[in-house]
Amino acid sequence: MKLGMIGLGAMGLPICRRLLANNYEVRAFDLVEKAVQEARESGAEICTSAALAASDVDIVLCSLPNAAIVSGVLREVLATEDLSLKYFIDLSSISPDSARNHAKMTAERGVEYMDCPVSGGVGGAATGTLTVMAGGSDEGFAKVLPVLEAIGKKIYHVGSVGTGSGIKMVNNYLLGCNMAAVAEALVLGAKIGLDLDTMYEIIGSSSGRSFIIENKIPNFIKKRNFEGGFAVDLEHKDLGLAADTAKQLKMPTPMGSTAIQMFETARAKGYGRQDITALLKIWEELMDIEVK
Ligand code: NAD
Repeated sequence: MKLGMIGLGAMGLPICRRLLANNYEVRAFDLVEKAVQEARESGAEICTSAALAASDVDIVLCSLPNAAIVSGVLREVLATEDLSLKYFIDLSSISPDSARNHAKMTAERGVEYMDCPVSGGVGGAATGTLTVMAGGSDEGFAKVLPVLEAIGKKIYHVGSVGTGSGIKMVNNYLLGCNMAAVAEALVLGAKIGLDLDTMYEIIGSSSGRSFIIENKIPNFIKKRNFEGGFAVDLEHKDLGLAADTAKQLKMPTPMGSTAIQMFETARAKGYGRQDITALLKIWEELMDIEVK
């Protein structure tokens, strides 16, 4: 079976490779030549536009930076005269509102748009072990499930369109707030003389434990390696999606507001492309201490 894949970045390229490894033929497109080249070397058929990648296929996937770019790609794809497309699977992290708007756009041409954001990062994309949170109809979900199974290990049909993006947004809201809190807490601990191994061991088996404590301390903080991982810029974007959504609902989100300022500070320090654990360095510099 042939699929379209639009966006071959940190997530999109390994996802494309998973599709190829699962015996799908892939028509792929990205704006960046290097990404296109790597997809070609992996066996994808390269197209010169998003519209061409989405032609002659029933299902297209995209993994793009933000909702505005997804909208632009959708407009281009939907302008195609002979549209065979039935399902548009959006793996990007966007707001529930944007997902519902995209679904309205595609419905006019008889295409079902499904928001299917993912969790598990670049490593999960490479190994096909992503968590996928799908929003769309029961029939649509049943149709695209084999494709989602090629890229993910845990696949959830959350509900109607927008719900996949909703749960992803809420999850990443918590991730960002937790990261901001852990950065402060570890530096506070260091200031009172606690070492990192002690904090990892005891908090990791106490009520303050979290993904950040269990995963990020050994893999990033302990190694003083802030490269790769989940970028400050991406988490900053996700906190912004939650802030916009809360504003529409007239709901105060003070934890998120504080966290977003910490991520903005990290971006101002030049840590935008580093892992979210780079937030630790802000507090270390301020308090003149290294957590070790
Ligand atoms: P990325 O910036 O590495 O890749 C995005 C790709 O989209 C780039 O290759 C870019 O050239 C391409 N692109 C931009 N505009 C385009 C257009 N008009 N047509 C075709 N291609 C276009 O980003 P990423 O890290 O791969 O993330 C993709 C999405 O997945 C984002 O929405 C992100 O929030 C989400 N996400 C990322 C991670 C992660 O760990 N990186 C984890 C979960 C979810």
